[in-house]
Amino acid sequence: MKPLLAYEVREPGEGHCVIAFATNNATARREGGNELDCSFNEVESCNRRPQFDQYAPGPVPKTVLIKHGWWFECHHCSRRVNGDMPQEVEGEGEEHEHLEVVTEGDAVYCSHSCVMVEFVERRAQKSAQAALIEFFSVKYPDCKIGSIWVSRAPLQGRDRLGHAQALLYFRFPGAQHDATFTFGEDCMRISPDDRPAFYAWRDIKMPPTEAT
Ligand SMILES: [Zn+2]
Repeated sequence: MKPLLAYEVREPGEGHCVIAFATNNATARREGGNELDCSFNEVESCNRRPQFDQYAPGPVPKTVLIKHGWWFECHHCSRRVNGDMPQEVEGEGEEHEHLEVVTEGDAVYCSHSCVMVEFVERRAQKSAQAALIEFFSVKYPDCKIGSIWVSRAPLQGRDRLGHAQALLYFRFPGAQHDATFTFGEDCMRISPDDRPAFYAWRDIKMPPTEAT
């Protein structure tokens, strides 16, 4: 069997790269292109990178890629994380003692504090989701909860656009479509088709239909 070799495959748009392991350039180009969401012909370049051969069949650890000049966005604050990060920041006169390349699973962070804040926010989001489900199911036990969506940072209040933070999609008895409940708002959004079922469910008298 031919050994797997490392190739760096680059897409033309934003210059994103992946390392593909394959026995030949054409296969690497195709597989790397797939991973980058571009076709064989769209791939900008596909070059051998023997320094990564030892990591076949991949993935190459991100810390190793960073040592070889790659950069990633911090999973929490989106700062550009690379090997020269502290020096670059120092050049810009920003505080840099805390900056350090930290990897956790597949994620790259610029500092331990970003790892921590990400962790705390995720925990907060999870508990906000659980609280939303609990709140809704106690209040409307006869509904079937579909999915929920809680914005990333329930601790930070509404986002800049004033978007709601906690939504829950559900079916009330007799409904054909999902309805939306927004936490903290006094109304529900329902499909027009489901209006009769909604009025029946809430025990509201149907508004009289206009005589024509
Ligand atoms: Zn960060």
